[in-house]
Amino acid sequence: MAKVKKKIKTIKVDADKCNGCRSCEIACSSFHAIPKYSSNNPARSRIQVVTNRSKDIWLPVFAGEYTPAECMGRDIYIIDGKEYSECDFCRAVCPSRDIFKEPDSGLPLKCDMCESDPPLEKPKCVEWCLNDVLKYEETEEEVEESETPSDMEIGLESIINKYGIDKVTDAVARLSQKSETKA
Ligand code: SF4
Ligand code: SF4
Repeated sequence: MAKVKKKIKTIKVDADKCNGCRSCEIACSSFHAIPKYSSNNPARSRIQVVTNRSKDIWLPVFAGEYTPAECMGRDIYIIDGKEYSECDFCRAVCPSRDIFKEPDSGLPLKCDMCESDPPLEKPKCVEWCLNDVLKYEETEEEVEESETPSDMEIGLESIINKYGIDKVTDAVARLSQKSETKA
C-alpha cells in the first residue's frame, strides 16, 4: 500500500488542571450543532468530562470509535492515589453506557478535531478551555494510505448492528419509494 504524508492532530490533556467547568462540552456541542452555533447541549458533545466529585476526579475524554460489543472485564487504575475505572479513560462508543451518543437518535458521536472549511486554528474545546488543560499540537507522519469511514458510514454500521441488515434495507426501500412519490 502507498505511503502518504498525514497531518497528525493531537490534544494533550493535563487532567490535574481541570476544574469541571464544562466549557469544552458547550463549545463542542455548539460548534457541531446544525446550523452551527444554533444550540448547545453538552449531551451532544464529543468531549465529556468524566466526573467523580467525592474522589476529586475530573477527566476530559474524547469520543473515539464505535464498537458493537462491550468489554468483559473492568480493570481499576490507581494514579496519584485516585482510583479510576478502566471505563473512565475509554473513548469507545459502547453499548454499556450512554456517553458519546446522539441523545435523540442514539447514533454514535466521534471527535473529528473540529474539521471544517476553512480550517480552524485550533479545535473549539481547546480554544474555550481557559484553564490550559487542553493543548493542541500538529505533526506530520508518513503512514499507509487508507480510507477513513465517514460519520454517515459509522452511523449506518451502528444502525445495522442494532436492527439487522434486512430491516435497514427494507426501511431504505420504503423511504426511497416515499421520496419518489413526493418528487
Ligand atoms: S476537538 Fe472538536 S470535535 Fe473533538 S471534542 Fe474538541 S471540540 Fe469536539
Ligand atoms: S473547559 Fe477545561 S477546565 Fe473546563 S471542564 Fe473542559 S477541560 Fe476541564
